Parts: sequence; C-alpha cells; structure tokens
Amino acid sequence: MMSKSSKESDKKRKKMGKGSRRCIRCGTHQGIIRSYGLNMCRRCFRETAEKLGFRKYS
Ligand SMILES: [Zn+2]
Repeated sequence: MMSKSSKESDKKRKKMGKGSRRCIRCGTHQGIIRSYGLNMCRRCFRETAEKLGFRKYS
C-alpha cells in the first residue's frame, strides 16, 4: 500500500523533526492553531475553547 511512496514519506519525515509544530494535547500536526500561542489542533482548541468560554462555533 504505502511502499511506493516510502521515499517521499522519508523526505517528509526529515522535514518534520522534533521542532515541528504539533498539538500540545494530542500530538497531531493537522490543523494546528498557533495564534494566541495555543499550539493546539482545531479539535483540542474547540474543546479547550469551550472550557475557556470561547464561542467560535455559531
Ligand atoms: Zn489536538
């Protein structure tokens, strides 16, 4: 399945080292929000935002 793109993923892996942005809560690097110094993914942001009283969803 992923044997064909092994070379590409290897390149990608090199680019995304320890210093890459990841969600501080779940560790994903998808949809990271860096604004406000959150460094969270959208999912975790939503959860946290609800707790904080944010209302970005309408
Ligand atoms: Zn997250």
